[in-house]
Amino acid sequence: MINWVWCGDCLDWKDAGNEVSFMSIEEDTFGKDVMTFLCDKCEKENKNNVIESATKPRGGRRSIKHHHDSFIPLTVEDAISRNNKKDKYR
Ligand SMILES: [Zn+2]
Repeated sequence: MINWVWCGDCLDWKDAGNEVSFMSIEEDTFGKDVMTFLCDKCEKENKNNVIESATKPRGGRRSIKHHHDSFIPLTVEDAISRNNKKDKYR
């Protein structure tokens, strides 16, 4: 299995063992590993959940720095709240 982390600057998954420089690891409120790392490619610091998978995960993650709507599949709740917002500004 490979540990993958999401680089919000490259907008790509990185092999945590090969493509990034490990800085620190902590646990989020759900007990999931959250890794702080330096991306080898863009040399920026990122902090994200670690995903364990044999192959590169599909799609992207929500990122505060790069909010990329088309990149992430919408949840039903997202779609509803977005529609409500649309109505509000119509
Ligand atoms: Zn990067």
